[in-house]
This record gives sequence, structure tokens and C-alpha cells, in this order.
Amino acid sequence: MNDILSRVFSFEQHVFPNQAELYSRLAHDGQSPKALMISCADSRVVPEHIMQAEPGDLFVCRNAGNIVPPYAQANGGVSSTVEYAVMGLGVRDIIVCGHSDCGAMKALDMDDQLARMPNVAAWLRHSNAARQVVDENYPHQCGGERVRSLAMENITAQIDHLRTHPSVASALARGELTLHGWFVDIHAGVVLGLDGASGLYKTLRADRPLPVAVARPARENSEAAWLEAAE
Ligand code: ZN
Repeated sequence: MNDILSRVFSFEQHVFPNQAELYSRLAHDGQSPKALMISCADSRVVPEHIMQAEPGDLFVCRNAGNIVPPYAQANGGVSSTVEYAVMGLGVRDIIVCGHSDCGAMKALDMDDQLARMPNVAAWLRHSNAARQVVDENYPHQCGGERVRSLAMENITAQIDHLRTHPSVASALARGELTLHGWFVDIHAGVVLGLDGASGLYKTLRADRPLPVAVARPARENSEAAWLEAAE
């Protein structure tokens, strides 16, 4: 049997019994995850591993390129997961997580290969903004440096898409949601966070404030705020 498939028996025999109390509580009380993480499907980027998360901690959506289609696009798995996480589970943080050496970002430059993979090609159109930003603003980059810039600009583009979702926009307006953009450097084992105010990625450090991509203070009285703005 495939080695990795046989490890399921280890889960049944060792892992689950050792966490029986936790699983019992989650099964009885239901889940209340602390964050939604939208990450690339790459096997080297494992959200629960990076976050050192226990069962019940993290709601996770993974796909090639950590993409969030804009709301106006056809309904799909990512849109439904975002809506349920915000409306149904009330998560307070959403993390869009990309990484170095991302195959999806490399594929943006491989038109000949994409011609044989029409679904991938259609999916990666959601990252066209990132490609154009890099093409026009970092035209001299190539190789790993270009892939890294594509991944970082793609995180920004997907956070912009996330804000088109009504559930996200509304929770941001209430000050109940914070959006994060993380870049995992799988070569160095470090995580960089997008600082939305400066547009820069900063290394996450325990002794520094966590950089956030979008942190919207609550509108205490939205009607009054609009009236003030109009005067
Ligand atoms: Zn990737």
C-alpha cells in the first residue's frame, strides 16, 4: 500500500485516541474556528502546520494559486466558503496565503502549457492583474525573483477580490473582520505579512504588531458618517 495512505491507520490508532477529549468536545459543541485561511494547494504549504493549529482552530480553503474569484463571477466553492465562514461561522480574520516557488504563478508565463489545460488557464485569469502589475512595474525581473513578485502581487489582487464579496464588505464595515496577506517563503521558512498601509511585506515577528492588509475600524454610526462626509 502507498505509504501515505497507510498512515490513516496511525490516525485511528494513535492520533485520535490521544486527542479524544478535543474531538469529543468539537463533535458535541460544533466548530468555532478562529480564522479562514485561503491558501495555495501546493503540498509544501500546509496551513495547519504553519499555524500550528489544532482541529477546530482553522477553516481552510485551498486551491491552485490561492485565488478568490470576484463576487460577480459564477458561484463556486471559494465564494461559498468565504460566505459561510463570515456569515455562518463569524470568523474575525481571513488570511490569503501565497508562497515562493508557486507553480500556479509560474504557469502564468507558460501560455503553451496552459493551452493543454483549459480549466487551469481559465482559473488563472483571476491572477491577470498580478501579471500585469509585474510586467509593467518590474519588467527586468526574471526567474525566481519574478515568481516571487507574481505571488506577492497575486495575494494583493485576491484580497481586492475578497472585498467585492458582500459578506466581507459588510463585516469590514462593522469592524468585525480583518484581512491578512501572507507570503510563505518555503526556502527560508519565514512568513511575510502584507502591510496594507505601505504595500510592503514585513517578516512576522512575535515582538512586533502583526501587519494587516485591511483593518477597517467600525463605523459607529454609519448614517452620521455619511452625512458628515457630504457636508
Ligand atoms: Zn502555489
